[in-house]
Amino acid sequence: MKVTRCTNCGTERFRIIARKLCKRCYAVIRKIEQFEKWNPNSKKVPNGYPRSLPLMRHEHIARMKVDIIAQCEDHLKQLRRMEERLRGPISSINIEYQLEVLAEKAGAKNARGIMHGAAICFDGFTVEQRAILFYWLYSIEENILRQHRIDWSRGMFN
Ligand SMILES: [Zn+2]
Repeated sequence: MKVTRCTNCGTERFRIIARKLCKRCYAVIRKIEQFEKWNPNSKKVPNGYPRSLPLMRHEHIARMKVDIIAQCEDHLKQLRRMEERLRGPISSINIEYQLEVLAEKAGAKNARGIMHGAAICFDGFTVEQRAILFYWLYSIEENILRQHRIDWSRGMFN
């Protein structure tokens, strides 16, 4: 039987491209595999390693490796969570929160403050109306470019 549902995120919105995964999840899994092969004792660095970062001692590299893999795993988890959310039902609070996320990603200061209380406006919407609105708002978020860039040095400072 042909697989139409991604085994990570469960989506049917995207084509399954390999290993029963959608293109988004497959790309993240490939990254994880690449990072797992990274040998902290070697001078060879994975694709995407920022040129601006100095070469570091192997114990730093080992920490960095653990952290960037964790970032990829969080991304996979987030994709699962959002697909589950999209399957509904969508509450007024889900819409308020999504507006807040967009405000934040747009760079608004006090994103939470400006959206606080917006939920009440959607209480009168039908389940279908809420689902449609949420879908469009989420579509904006998921099409923001370069939002899942790896923060290579994050693991170095915490
Ligand atoms: Zn997927």
